[in-house]
Amino acid sequence: MKELPSRSRRFLKAKKKIVMGSAAVLLAAASIAVGTAIVPSDFEVPVLLANGEVITPPWYVTANGQQVALVDSKEDAREVVKKVAQQYKNSETVKIEIEEQTSAKEMNLENGDQKPEILSVEEAAAEIASKQELTVKTTEVITEDEPIDYKEVKEKTDKLYVGQTKVKKEGRSGLKKVTKEVTKENGEAVRTDVLKEETIQEPENQIVLTGTKEKEEALYTASRGTEKRGSGQLAAPVSSIRVTSSFGPRWGRTHLGVDLGMPTGSPISAADAGTVIFAGYSGSYGNLVKVDHGNGIVTYYAHCSEILAKQGQTVEKGAVIAKVGSTGNSTGPHLHFEVRVNGRNENPLNYL
Ligand SMILES: [Zn+2]
Repeated sequence: MKELPSRSRRFLKAKKKIVMGSAAVLLAAASIAVGTAIVPSDFEVPVLLANGEVITPPWYVTANGQQVALVDSKEDAREVVKKVAQQYKNSETVKIEIEEQTSAKEMNLENGDQKPEILSVEEAAAEIASKQELTVKTTEVITEDEPIDYKEVKEKTDKLYVGQTKVKKEGRSGLKKVTKEVTKENGEAVRTDVLKEETIQEPENQIVLTGTKEKEEALYTASRGTEKRGSGQLAAPVSSIRVTSSFGPRWGRTHLGVDLGMPTGSPISAADAGTVIFAGYSGSYGNLVKVDHGNGIVTYYAHCSEILAKQGQTVEKGAVIAKVGSTGNSTGPHLHFEVRVNGRNENPLNYL
């Protein structure tokens, strides 16, 4: 592996040699007042370098004793620190501090030495900033408008089914003026303290309707538990009448209703308003619904694939109470429909 000479390696080497002599001049972070230097500031002896050039020794910018950049003069070193700090300053900045103790230190350069790499103030500042060799802590006081979130309020309604919701009134965010103190380190916010909050506009609640209506009650619009009397005039329980087996004697027995051929899943509706007196499985009928329409009239809906009505429920004429199927003693999907008048089976087709 080829070893690449790097600036940081050179720094590390250089750092080991540091002896904080009396020539070190403190560059106080915020005030950057260097006027109280112990050593006369002009005491600089020119040096003849190996390449024949004559220069006055350059100065290190140091942070907590570590050399972080090399520039032409002590003044430049001070400028570098100032420049690093200033780049984090903006119109909201109320305070700037540098965490590290900074100073300028003259390089021990002797006659015949190689020319060191000296940076301009801009270069040095850019390098220190990019390597974050100084921690510039700024405090900003910012005032800005912020939204205030609105609350959601629920209101119950029997106009919607259980589980359904609807926005009755859209919420509206409010507005507040917030004054805060933001502490940043090298431009990154590390702490925010709210100093003051002032409401400019109150938020408006969002009102959401939540349904309480149950599904079954939606299907059967009549309320439960009340006696329901039919009109006496029956409607067809399926959407089309296709008699596959009629009422009366059949295979040596009496067929108690009519068989209406329909695809599985077709809706079966109550022939008239009434009360569901049975909804369940019943032997050869399979899934069966019986509806009492009053006046001694009861209708049967058999072989259903699915029962939607519940026993005890009242239904309107035409309400969907079940779905066509082939349960029980059945050879294919159809509705077996019976009409009983005072307990006696009648031909349903006479009533449709
Ligand atoms: Zn039948």
